[in-house]
Amino acid sequence: MPVISGEEYKKRINAINAEVWVAGNKVTGDISEHPAFKGIIRSQAELYGLQCDDQDNMTFSSETTGNRLGLSYLIPKTKGDLERRRKMIQQWALHSGGVMGRSPDYMNTVIAAFAASIDVLDGEANCYPDRLLQFYEYARENDLSFTHTFVNPQSNRSKLAFLEEDVTNARIMDRTEQGLIIKGAKLLATQGGITDEIIVFSAPGAQDNAHAYCFSIPSNTEGLKFICRESFANEGVSYDYPLSSRFDEVDTLVIFDDVLVPWERVFIHDNIRAATRLYVQGKFVPFTLHQIVSRQIIKTDFLLGIAQGIVDTIQIGDYQHVQSKVVEIVKGLEVMKALIIKSEHEAAVDASGIMVPARQPLYVAVNQFQESYPRFAEILQILGASGMMSIPQKADFEGEVGKQLDHFLQGVEVKGEDRVSLFRLAWDLTMSSFGSRQTLYERFFFGDPVRLSQTIYQLYDDNKALETIQPFLSKKADK
Ligand SMILES: Cc1cc2nc3c(=O)[nH]c(=O)nc-3n(C[C@H](O)[C@H](O)[C@H](O)COP(=O)(O)OP(=O)(O)OC[C@H]3O[C@@H](n4cnc5c(N)ncnc54)[C@H](O)[C@@H]3O)c2cc1C
Repeated sequence: MPVISGEEYKKRINAINAEVWVAGNKVTGDISEHPAFKGIIRSQAELYGLQCDDQDNMTFSSETTGNRLGLSYLIPKTKGDLERRRKMIQQWALHSGGVMGRSPDYMNTVIAAFAASIDVLDGEANCYPDRLLQFYEYARENDLSFTHTFVNPQSNRSKLAFLEEDVTNARIMDRTEQGLIIKGAKLLATQGGITDEIIVFSAPGAQDNAHAYCFSIPSNTEGLKFICRESFANEGVSYDYPLSSRFDEVDTLVIFDDVLVPWERVFIHDNIRAATRLYVQGKFVPFTLHQIVSRQIIKTDFLLGIAQGIVDTIQIGDYQHVQSKVVEIVKGLEVMKALIIKSEHEAAVDASGIMVPARQPLYVAVNQFQESYPRFAEILQILGASGMMSIPQKADFEGEVGKQLDHFLQGVEVKGEDRVSLFRLAWDLTMSSFGSRQTLYERFFFGDPVRLSQTIYQLYDDNKALETIQPFLSKKADK
């Protein structure tokens, strides 16, 4: 099957009819018409539409069927492949200004990365690399969409939590002839309930075998429940809510009520070492980070555009501190662009012929963004000042006071309605409920920034740096 259209995606998600709970109610009927999901499902469908329309740049030919498939499913073999993938990812990201963290390319990349890593499962007990590869091919050929959940509920994060009885985390309760039985909960599946499948994986740190697994199941598997946070999807006209009316991806707690995972969908079970190796030593990190940083570059450009738009509209560009603040975003953007090119430049082919981007530049980029994104959002607020609150709605401009608002809220060479349109965009990106969630998302979605920087510390090869100081150390200097 070639890449799907937006309509096909919608039809599929409505037919799946997963168990999704919003504000205490189970979603019934077509989920694509539910107020919490209407905007995001429409936006996701638009992405599939773009992919269909620009097949030259967004698809590749299947080796097995000849069908055109989504480039985000491609396992790169050359540096040119990496570049093609990046451009495709950025083309999709442009459609939302990079605010859709879970456009389908994110998880397509993850499943491709898992399939590209099956070598780390070779010879491991309770691991099924062949099934993983077959599943990747099935997903790729059918243009499946995915959500995922890797993290355990927050009930106890102390170092000695493993001594307590586990009563929340999703775990293997039984291994039957049909498959695994999973009970408990996991978080935080963004787009939970509006994708074909969910990948469930234990992030590193599992303390016992019952928590060490990797599998994928359809979103409508019996006993699987998605509990949504409050919706931030403002239903109003797009003038009022330019981003939140279209791109609220919804985050969900996932509950497993004795869910049966059939064996053909189990890739790892009861093996802490293998689950950790797939995460740490496989290609999950470099490939996923390559997708993430590609998107974050587009998002930074988007923020820069809004910042410069504000500066021009109220003419604050002569002030030195304003220039410095815009330049903070410029520096962030240029560093991210340089880091992704470095990761591609230093990419290397591994033993299985796969072109793997260099990890370090990508780790640095994502960890840097966790710190700089909240600052970029703050810069928009500082530049916008009261303008972030003088933001009447479309109805005000169309009503009796509209003409006065156009006059009193004008900017330099723009009438009030146009100036407010820009400031509402800045507000929706950084201050609405949707905007606050954007900041939390960029801080945490790829893991805790504190522990990510520890990982960089642990992995960084600073032997060369140590060598540079040797000639200056007292013993050698005396010679
Ligand atoms: C908007 C959003 C969307 C997300 N979407 C997804 C998704 O789709 N799928 C998915 O699987 N996950 C998703 N996540 C979860 C994300 O992966 C986690 O937020 C992240 O891994 C951090 O884990 P936590 O939230 O449980 O924080 P915690 O681990 O509970 O940390 C809370 C605080 O305690 C500190 N802390 C805790 N333990 C330690 C430690 N050992 N050492 C040092 N400090 C510690 C942290 O630094 C942090 O300040 C999402 C998160 C957000 C915010």
